[in-house]
Amino acid sequence: MINIKNLNKHYGDTKVLNDISIDIKKGEIFAIVGHSGAGKSTLMRCINGLENYTNGSLKVNDKEIKDLQKNELREFRKNVGMIFQHFSLIQRKTVFENIALPMQLWGYKKEEILKKVNDLLILVGLEEKIDSYPNQLSGGQKQRVAIARALTLDPDILLSDEATSALDPNTTTSILNLLKQINEKLNITIILVTHEMEVVKQIAQKALLLDHGNIIGFDTTEELFLKP
Ligand code: ADP
Ligand code: ADP
Repeated sequence: MINIKNLNKHYGDTKVLNDISIDIKKGEIFAIVGHSGAGKSTLMRCINGLENYTNGSLKVNDKEIKDLQKNELREFRKNVGMIFQHFSLIQRKTVFENIALPMQLWGYKKEEILKKVNDLLILVGLEEKIDSYPNQLSGGQKQRVAIARALTLDPDILLSDEATSALDPNTTTSILNLLKQINEKLNITIILVTHEMEVVKQIAQKALLLDHGNIIGFDTTEELFLKP
């Protein structure tokens, strides 16, 4: 589903991504791992079309991302949900309003929005919080709201940018279990950017290890981490 070949990203003389070639399959839970500065965020921004790469190829569903026109890019980005470390919820909006926002921006009908938000609240287990504000929720609950919001437009891909880095270990596990469940139920490809090896071991089937923009590992999680 995502095919990356000889991808390079330079900022001036700085090579941030150096000859990256990987494939990510539909329905896979894939981790991009590395220390701060490794190039993880840059690669993620290339995948969701927020950043141009210098050269090489990056195809999603056989479409070269850098060749997309502006309106095609807008349509493409609808297909990629995102969650973040600090949740990025709007504080003065309720849970319902936060989740409904992407659908409102795309002009969906009120009934469609109501049904979708209710379905998603059931999926993430927060029906009773529909009228709460973010500051009334725990960290884990906020991330559940953000996950629901990321799924409103039925994306094929969910990008998680350090989504559990601000959470304690138990809450992290419950969020990872939710992501697994979503992956299985909705057949969504999940790409996790993380510096936490525990997260990778708990959930990812495959991982890319980056160091200073270079691939230092690309294999199944079992091969990379779980074999003696
Ligand atoms: P990570 O997400 O793994 O921490 P990043 O992709 O954010 O890594 O950054 C990789 C490298 O690219 C870093 O050395 C960073 O300083 C550099 N970098 C990122 N964005 C820019 C930019 N806009 N201009 C110049 N250098 C950048
Ligand atoms: P989960 O694992 O389901 O994401 P947490 O472990 O983060 O949930 O929180 C467990 C419970 O503690 C929640 O149901 C929530 O009601 C309560 N809680 C935790 N922190 C807060 C907070 N800051 N404000 C309100 N309730 C909280």
